[in-house]
Amino acid sequence: MRNWFSLILAANLLAPIGAACVAESIPKKDLTGRPTQRTGLLTDRLNKKQLQVWRAMEQIAGAKDQTGQPLYPSLHELYIWAQTSGFSIGIEMPQHESISPYEAAECVLEQTPSGMMPGLTIRIYVGVIDKARVERTESRANDFIPFLGLSGVARYCETLAHELTHARQWLTDPAYAQLLREQEALNTQFLELVHRKAKDNPTRRRKLELQHRLTELGNRIEASAISAEKQVWRELTSSPMI
Ligand SMILES: [Zn+2]
Repeated sequence: MRNWFSLILAANLLAPIGAACVAESIPKKDLTGRPTQRTGLLTDRLNKKQLQVWRAMEQIAGAKDQTGQPLYPSLHELYIWAQTSGFSIGIEMPQHESISPYEAAECVLEQTPSGMMPGLTIRIYVGVIDKARVERTESRANDFIPFLGLSGVARYCETLAHELTHARQWLTDPAYAQLLREQEALNTQFLELVHRKAKDNPTRRRKLELQHRLTELGNRIEASAISAEKQVWRELTSSPMI
């Protein structure tokens, strides 16, 4: 099964586009030979340097004020959910570029043996995030502009919040999972029509219908993740610690 969500840096590029994903497996077995499942945020695919980055992100997610309250409550809440949800969420920071130069991260379904909880991989493209240009233009003065005022690890945390929101919805909300399945199916249909290059009116009409529905689905799929990301961005940018 293919599935993906991604944070597209340019707001006007939020419409869904096709992307292949990798089916991955969890090979570990227990003493009886049955597959075991580790849960929470799994970082064993990170190299030493990436792990340092991850630890710095965790420090932000877990930061507390003098009264013991989380400094970034929305990020903290998502992080705690991911660690305690009982799902496996692998973290990767690929060194290659993402498929799209605007794709900061993606959330990919893992193939798990039957009887096991589904798992996801979150890929954070730190190179794309580092290079992301954020400029406040007059026309977008009131819009949320991802990463504005943030750099480095704080940007990665904002991205993580976006992807964890997708992950939580996908893993816990069947209606949301259905939206993703529909998006995938329609995306396949749309790409087939594009490849066929037919220019007759019924094909054109069908393409327009598909585009319209895909945009609608994309907006619905992204809404909560963008909202959570925006909230985390607000928390991070209003902090004197960042
Ligand atoms: Zn997204």
